[in-house]
Amino acid sequence: MNSLKNKIRDIADFPEPGIVFKDITPLVQDPGTLRECIDALIAPFSHSRINAVAGMEARGFIFGTLAAWELGVGFIPLRKPGKLPYDVQKVDYDLEYGNASLEAHIDAIQPGDKILLIDDVLATGGTAKASCELVEKLGGQVVACAFVMELGFLEGRQKLRDYPIHSLITY
Ligand code: AMP
Repeated sequence: MNSLKNKIRDIADFPEPGIVFKDITPLVQDPGTLRECIDALIAPFSHSRINAVAGMEARGFIFGTLAAWELGVGFIPLRKPGKLPYDVQKVDYDLEYGNASLEAHIDAIQPGDKILLIDDVLATGGTAKASCELVEKLGGQVVACAFVMELGFLEGRQKLRDYPIHSLITY
């Protein structure tokens, strides 16, 4: 996974002081590394029965859509509030400072659908946990959560202990 690591750029103090932002734009800019990343993300699931991939706004859309394409299934965008035009299901969750919400269309998932969740970074796990709850509220079953990278020191895995986790790089 060194080739992937080499294409992830650290940006200090973005979007606020003290945060080291993991910038994936060099990775997605490079076709070979992007291919390697998507192949590795879906590798454990190539023989699993998955009905759809769900991805969190915004970088989850990039990796999630490509993964869905490769798995031959559809993609479900989990969006920030007010972006989706049709009727939505919603989950609210706490951030370190303040709170946030994610929404999905009420007809995005059929009861019993097996869903693979994909995002770029597992940090505190709040976003992924909320995404799992949203999928379940819509009647879906989370097969696993897959991430390009995991910030191990933030212990996001603790929040996701009910779900299998697949991450390509751990910092
Ligand atoms: P969390 O809910 O704390 O696990 O945060 C996960 C979400 O925030 C993901 O959608 C990431 O894209 C984003 N995120 C959190 N920390 C970082 C970071 N250091 N660099 C880039 N994105 C981050």
